[in-house]
Amino acid sequence: MNDFKIGRQIGKGKYGRVYLAIYKASGYIVALKILLKQELQHEKLLKQLEREVEIQGNLDHPNVLKLYGYFQDDNHIVMILEFAQYGTLYDFLKKSQRISEGRSARYVAQIARALQFIHQKRIIHRDIKPENLLVGRNGELKLADFGWATYAPGLSSAPLTTVCGTLDYLAPEMVRRLPYNENVDVWALGILCYELLVGVPPFEAIGFHETCRRII
Ligand code: ADP
Ligand code: MG
Ligand code: MG
Repeated sequence: MNDFKIGRQIGKGKYGRVYLAIYKASGYIVALKILLKQELQHEKLLKQLEREVEIQGNLDHPNVLKLYGYFQDDNHIVMILEFAQYGTLYDFLKKSQRISEGRSARYVAQIARALQFIHQKRIIHRDIKPENLLVGRNGELKLADFGWATYAPGLSSAPLTTVCGTLDYLAPEMVRRLPYNENVDVWALGILCYELLVGVPPFEAIGFHETCRRII
């Protein structure tokens, strides 16, 4: 931790906080996602974090947020991430309510390219939504938060059935608890496209069950 000069907090997720930081040796600016070991004690959470690091650390694409490395001390696990200076698409959408057709088209194309890239490597993201899409220094979108990512099932592995992600963005096969594949990300991209243009996701409703019914 002493190799970094830690700056302001730039985000907060379910298990961690994200800080701006400078790597002292080079002056390079990064984002540090700091997780408390104490909060990760559940075996499953640790496995999930290992997978997040393994998957994101091996991806190199202009529309995928880079993970440069990670380290730990007695109390923390720290991910060293590319810093996205313009924050999340969620904040941008909240400010502007909706996004022009031209900009939406560019955003959707960028995430489509990111998905094509990860799906080729048989990786499924499973949590595409505005909070997990960051805006880089040239205004380009970066797919982030691989905390729910997994490998697409092969011929000999069990089909995927774990329900995960965020309700408004769930594909109908997941809502129905059927086996699914990387197409759940493609569905979520469609939801994103709608939300960018309209300002709210298409199947939003009062109550969990009504949203599920509309999605199906
Ligand atoms: P969680 O897995 O807990 O949801 P995320 O990786 O999604 O954590 O990060 C939580 C929030 O922190 C994001 O929604 C965003 O606001 C901010 N954030 C995360 N990484 C970065 C980054 N590299 N640059 C700028 N902001 C970030
Ligand atoms: Mg997140
Ligand atoms: Mg996560």
